[in-house]
Amino acid sequence: MQPYEHDDRGIRWVCDCSNPPVLLAIYDQSGRIEIKVRDRYYIAHDELQATCPRCGTRHVLNIRQSPAL
Ligand SMILES: [Zn+2]
Repeated sequence: MQPYEHDDRGIRWVCDCSNPPVLLAIYDQSGRIEIKVRDRYYIAHDELQATCPRCGTRHVLNIRQSPAL
């Protein structure tokens, strides 16, 4: 299973603990990461840590370590 899905806003960063997967954040190749917490949007760059609200798994996203496309 591919961990990411593309949509019109960027690449979906998800936890696959459930179906449908839990969306953690959306990011793009420029390094911009958009995360929604309750009703607010937060913007991070290059690296983000997030805890899945459903299973509690801690995830680390580091875009700089991702293969260049
Ligand atoms: Zn999860």
